[in-house]
Amino acid sequence: MIQITMPLNFLGTVYREIRQALIDMADMFHLLEQPAEVKDKPDAPDLQVSGGRVSLQNVAFGYEAERAILKGIDLEVAPGQTVAIVGSSGSGKSTIGRLLFRFYDVSSGALLIDGQDVRDVTQDSLHAQIGVVPQDTVLFNDTVHYNIAYGRPTASEAEIIAAAKAAKIHDFIASLPLGYQTTVGERGLKLSGGEKQRVGIARTLLKNPPILLLDEATSALDTDTERDIQAELKAMGEGRTVITIAHRLSTIADADRIIVLENGAIVEQGQHAELLAQGGRYAQLWNRQSDDALE
Ligand code: ADP
Ligand code: MG
Repeated sequence: MIQITMPLNFLGTVYREIRQALIDMADMFHLLEQPAEVKDKPDAPDLQVSGGRVSLQNVAFGYEAERAILKGIDLEVAPGQTVAIVGSSGSGKSTIGRLLFRFYDVSSGALLIDGQDVRDVTQDSLHAQIGVVPQDTVLFNDTVHYNIAYGRPTASEAEIIAAAKAAKIHDFIASLPLGYQTTVGERGLKLSGGEKQRVGIARTLLKNPPILLLDEATSALDTDTERDIQAELKAMGEGRTVITIAHRLSTIADADRIIVLENGAIVEQGQHAELLAQGGRYAQLWNRQSDDALE
């Protein structure tokens, strides 16, 4: 008995590890759709986050050499601050997030977290410290439980349920015949965009990272649910560094600082009231959205 179960257990462990590695890679490829062309330096140390200061120093980047996407971005996010990035579609907002997560390396300049260049630390440690809620959450072909617990595999059942409640997805899950054991994803129950997004938010609430990157995190939700979840995200952002890429400007009006990006350059920055008073690009975006809301 012992002779047979030991090797099987061992194989089970190896299988789980391989599967986990594949899922991690699939996650990365999908999450931000990028090739894994970035490698750790030999003997790279882990990122040590003290406060969570994020600095972009004259960052330039292009996906292709001939087309610059970011053109010398200087941006400092102090520990615990919330900075919102707004701007038209294609202006380079998500690209900043991809560089922070180091899916690509900057073409020039540098991106630092608490003084450490993201190119000098292990990607695992970098990814462990940043919670990303993307526009389009990727679900694994596994249970809802697994999909949420992925944020922190050691979490207890109670913690998973608390995260699901905060992300306003618990009632929906509880209504399913198999509850948290329901398989979701391509080969399971297909969830709507809004439901997937809430699972993604629950996953990040559970991961509880010191740095948060919200990329249009609530764009697939209706306005009421968005308002509820914004409150949860805001509570989660307390005492953390938050970079939030906004879809609806009303959700970021209280950010410590708002950055307006156009064509890969910062064209305005300040707080909501001052930017409105300035009557520039932000005011224009704001007025356009207010008009849309009235229609
Ligand atoms: P935003 O989030 O502000 O809408 P992005 O940062 O996603 O904009 O994209 C900025 C620009 O980079 C766009 O013109 C987009 O087409 C281009 N881009 C994004 N991803 C890639 C990629 N993987 N390869 C080539 N170009 C890309
Ligand atoms: Mg984007």
